[in-house]
Amino acid sequence: MERKTILILGGGVGGQVAANTLATHLNGRHRIVLVDKQREFAFAPSFLWMIVGRRAPRDIQRPMEALLRKGVELVQAKTLRIDPAKKTVETSVGPMSFDHLVISLGADLAPEKVPGFQEAALNLYTMEGSSRIQKSLEGFSGRKVAVLIVSSPFKCPAAPYEAAFLIQDFLSRRGKPAEVCVFTPEPFPMPTAGQKVGEALKAMLESKAIRFNPNHKVTRIEPDGNRLVFENGKSETCDLIIGVPAHQAPKVARESGLTNEAGWIPVDRGTLATKYEGIYAIGDVAAVQIAGGKALPKAGIFAHSQAGVVAANILARLDGRAPDAKFDGKGWCAIELGGGSAAFGDGDFYAEGGPDVRLYEPSRYWHAGKVLFEKWWLAPFGPKRQALRLALNLGAKARGISVSL
Ligand SMILES: Cc1cc2nc3c(=O)[nH]c(=O)nc-3n(C[C@H](O)[C@H](O)[C@H](O)COP(=O)(O)OP(=O)(O)OC[C@H]3O[C@@H](n4cnc5c(N)ncnc54)[C@H](O)[C@@H]3O)c2cc1C
Repeated sequence: MERKTILILGGGVGGQVAANTLATHLNGRHRIVLVDKQREFAFAPSFLWMIVGRRAPRDIQRPMEALLRKGVELVQAKTLRIDPAKKTVETSVGPMSFDHLVISLGADLAPEKVPGFQEAALNLYTMEGSSRIQKSLEGFSGRKVAVLIVSSPFKCPAAPYEAAFLIQDFLSRRGKPAEVCVFTPEPFPMPTAGQKVGEALKAMLESKAIRFNPNHKVTRIEPDGNRLVFENGKSETCDLIIGVPAHQAPKVARESGLTNEAGWIPVDRGTLATKYEGIYAIGDVAAVQIAGGKALPKAGIFAHSQAGVVAANILARLDGRAPDAKFDGKGWCAIELGGGSAAFGDGDFYAEGGPDVRLYEPSRYWHAGKVLFEKWWLAPFGPKRQALRLALNLGAKARGISVSL
């Protein structure tokens, strides 16, 4: 049998799941090559615990190779060019060719898109930014903290709201309560999940006296005095600005000829196939259309499920079977509220009339589930990881939710 090459670009959430799923089934029959520019993987959901001092970088970071199964060849290199017609990729360590390609390059952050952001705001979406936020909150004695969402789309639609809850809780416990405000261009929180979920989250923010400012698109930040200036003519001065910067598709994706006008890679919503045979895009870099002209939110949970689907269909093709796996648009997330409690959203984003999302009552149970999930993700392969997986699957089953790892 001819040995084929499956090339995976990006070793984040989607890339790891795709590579590991393939490796579990292939047992060396075909090559699995994973290319990532980073040596270390950081579990981004835990940045939120980092900002309030509950995690240190070493708790949430692992060498990428420690998270990959035997049989995955890890190449530490930057992807420079993708030629979908010739089935080749140019990298910083040389050219590569492939039979099947999985693009899971994520979304790039573009803080430079808002003048003043880099000087005045701390970036919630990087490890380094989260460390700086933690230090700033530790010594904070000001009166007002802004959590600023610059533009949509941004990954994990709940994350900035979780940050607001955790910061409010942290400062109150320290006996240094401050006014925490969220500024966002969105009309209500997590708009893709629908108005009902948005209103419920808004009520949760209000119950903690977090000031929610919808329809506030920032145009610039004046570093002198930390003044946020918005498109709607308003402005606001804050002591600390914690920001979610603009997102954009990685340059190499934008230049691949695979993208839409916005730079993201449109894919079939079931198979994640691009317009080129044998080339798939998953996770944040992909553009998936859902009902009402909306796009599927960018979240790790979707990258994870999509990777499983793409791996299953590649395996089927390699074995000469018909590829029949389909991504069902289902996803969930635990929303940290502070004080060891979390809410939980679980939904079908492919529902015909638009996303059908249920928000469960806040409880310690969801928070514990999120902690277990983090431990499972970062655990080395072996009995401990298996036990964590079992605990997560049983816990989900007990609550009747659609989580299966
Ligand atoms: C603070 C925060 C909290 C979050 N919380 C949650 C949550 O609770 N639940 C949830 O579902 N999602 C959450 N997310 C979102 C989640 O982390 C992302 O949606 C997910 O990581 C997307 O997976 P991906 O594989 O598409 O991209 P990524 O995981 O970002 O991986 C992309 C990889 O590609 C590599 N790469 C990029 N360009 C190149 C290049 N040119 N050459 C080589 N390598 C390259 C990068 O180094 C990276 O390793 C959160 C995100 C943040 C920032």
